[in-house]
Amino acid sequence: MSAKFVFITGGVVSSLGKGIIAASLAKLLQARGLRVTIQKFDPYINIDPGTLNPYEHGECFVTDDGAETDLDLGHYERFLGVPTSQANNVTTGRVYYTVIKREREGAYLGKTVQIVPHITDEIKRRMLLLGQSGDYDVVLTEIGGTVGDMESQPFLEAVRQLQWELPEGDCMCIHLTLVPYLSAAKEIKTKPTQHSVQMLQHSGVMPDVIVCRTEHPLGENLRRKIALFCNVKPGHVIESIDAWSIYQVPLNMHAEHLDELVVRQLGIENFNAPDLTRWKAFLENLRNPKSTVNIGLVGKYVALQDAYKSIQESFVHAGAACGCKVKVHLFLSDDITAENVAGKLADMDGVLVAPGFGERGLEGKIHAVRYVRENGIPFLGICLGMQMCVVEYARNVLGWADASSTELNPNTPHPVIDLMEEQKKTTVKGGTMRLGAYECKLKKGSLAHHIYGAELIRERHRHRYEFNEKYAEDFAKGGLVASGINPSTGLVEIVELPGHPFFIASQFHPEYKSTPENPHPLFKAFIQAAKENQKA
Ligand code: GLN
Repeated sequence: MSAKFVFITGGVVSSLGKGIIAASLAKLLQARGLRVTIQKFDPYINIDPGTLNPYEHGECFVTDDGAETDLDLGHYERFLGVPTSQANNVTTGRVYYTVIKREREGAYLGKTVQIVPHITDEIKRRMLLLGQSGDYDVVLTEIGGTVGDMESQPFLEAVRQLQWELPEGDCMCIHLTLVPYLSAAKEIKTKPTQHSVQMLQHSGVMPDVIVCRTEHPLGENLRRKIALFCNVKPGHVIESIDAWSIYQVPLNMHAEHLDELVVRQLGIENFNAPDLTRWKAFLENLRNPKSTVNIGLVGKYVALQDAYKSIQESFVHAGAACGCKVKVHLFLSDDITAENVAGKLADMDGVLVAPGFGERGLEGKIHAVRYVRENGIPFLGICLGMQMCVVEYARNVLGWADASSTELNPNTPHPVIDLMEEQKKTTVKGGTMRLGAYECKLKKGSLAHHIYGAELIRERHRHRYEFNEKYAEDFAKGGLVASGINPSTGLVEIVELPGHPFFIASQFHPEYKSTPENPHPLFKAFIQAAKENQKA
């Protein structure tokens, strides 16, 4: 069977949760035994979100093969439990870049290069790519942005063309809209949905299914009305009511028969009921926590929930696995001083010091690490969090008051965190960090080894600076153990502090690999330690 394609567009407002709907549908199809992947096409001009501030676009998610991608890819991986890749996230910038490079090479000699057909051809090529690999039965494509945006036009035009070019029944379009409730009128309003579907149809794309985000049940009459005005079958109006957890959405979509409707529409002979046993077991645990642990998250992007999306989700997974609710308290690192750190962190059962870039807030992170180290509070440091843990140890235990990362102080006499030689030569910012999955060998008998229950692991990276191996011996003598080493480069990837109840930090990002069905061992161990700390 050749792959089938589902396109998902959104209308009325942004942030409707298209990514969650796409991931939920994909999960249901996967649970029916189909091989599924999801890709996202983003209309912005950046080649990838790697150079964006998290406040612009939320977290940047990193794949095994080193792509810096939209945070929706994190949802795709968490729901499906299968890795995504470079090919799963395409931006307008990347499409134009390819076409313009090709133009310079002379591929279009004699021709005027235009949005239609050249840009749309390149979009279509990329839309079909994963489907042609033979690895998937269904490819879901989420179109970023909102219908009516100037930037989305070429993508919708590509979908319009594919609706004609693909064999009959091989593709379909799902449109997600908002059905707002006006409390003054005590009424659910369908007009924005009607207009957004009109706009979609104006681009020549016919939705087969309309998913309505709503705070109140729609009722039969409204469904019929939407179907009538939006030109879809009455059974094809799906209600997506606010859920208590994003992980509940697949079950809600199944109750609305979305998966059944999709396999029928695509002519896929699949009569299996989705097997969601493990998913439901996770939800059961998530719904019935026996206790609450309080975790402090120290970072500099705390004003936006989405900035630490994968970390937040990893806590949800780990909490469910440990039978507790993880309450995350966000602390702006800029505000933390030696004087106020105890007041802020004393009530925390565990503290995570977050990844980040640039100089702002670094001293606050160092104060936080010192406090949890000296007070036996479980600590997990990630990336910049590990780097600040190393600086803290150098300053306050090894006695080098001037130690620093060269990201913070390029002239420090003790650059315990420094740029690698190859990074020093790098002037270009986009896609040039150490990115993607690297192997890491764990020291036998270490906490890391105990947590993973394995000697060789693979985790994802996204950073320029590294532990400076010049000082490795000093740290070893001083008590901070390098318990994870990159076997091919010798780079230090994990440090830990024996004798402390739980003190471990990684140069890599464990949060990118945690899923509900496979919570990450580091997060699980951290939450378990926080629970024990609470009892103590
Ligand atoms: N800014 C640090 C570096 O580039 C850490 C990056 C991160 O935390 N992801 O090495």
